[in-house]
Amino acid sequence: MKIGILALQGDFSKHGEHIQKLGLDPLYVRTPADLESADGLIIPGGESTTIGKLFVDFGLTETFIKRKTTLPVFGTCAGMIMMAKEIIGRDQFSLNLMDISIERNAYGRQIDSFEAEINTGIASLGTVQGVFIRAPRISRTGQEVEILASFEDFPVLIRQKNYLAASFHPELTENLNIHRYFIDMVNSTLESNNA
Ligand code: GLN
Repeated sequence: MKIGILALQGDFSKHGEHIQKLGLDPLYVRTPADLESADGLIIPGGESTTIGKLFVDFGLTETFIKRKTTLPVFGTCAGMIMMAKEIIGRDQFSLNLMDISIERNAYGRQIDSFEAEINTGIASLGTVQGVFIRAPRISRTGQEVEILASFEDFPVLIRQKNYLAASFHPELTENLNIHRYFIDMVNSTLESNNA
C-alpha cells in the first residue's frame, strides 16, 4: 500500500515519520505520476492558500479530479481547509471534498496556539492530544459528515465517506492512532475496489 503525502509546502515530513513508524514507506507527492500511484493521500498542515496555489501550479488538479471518488484523503489543519466545500469569507482554491464550512484562523493567531486533550468517541482512537496552530474552525457540517471528536462545542475530527479531516495536528504528537485509522480506511477502500 502506498500512502501519498502531498509534499509541496507545510509539515509533510512529520506525516512521513508517522507513516514510517506504522511500517509503510511514505510516497511524497509532487507530480501527477506520484498522485496516480498513491492509494491514499495525506494533505499536511501549512498555509492553505500556498498549498492550493502550488497544487494548481504543479499540475495535480486533473489527476486528482479523475481519482477523487475512490481516493481516501486525510487533511490536517491547512489540509482540512483544502478539503472544505466552503471557506468563509475567502475566495481560494479548494478540492471541495467535504460538506463543511471553515473559518480560517478562528482559534486565534500563531501566538494563541494551544494543546488540548481531545476525547474521541471511537475506541481505536481513544483520547488524543490536539495541537492547534492558527487552527481553522469547522463551523458547519453537512448531514453526511460524521463527527468523531469535538472540542468546546465545535467538531475537530470529522469523516465523510473516504475523507478524514482534523483541525489540529496529529502528526506533531507521538500518538499514531489517527494515522493508523486512516491506513485502515485506505485498506478498506483497496479491498472494496478489488472486490
Ligand atoms: N492558518 C493556516 C491556514 O489558514 C493553517 C495553519 C496550519 O496548518 N497549522 O492556512
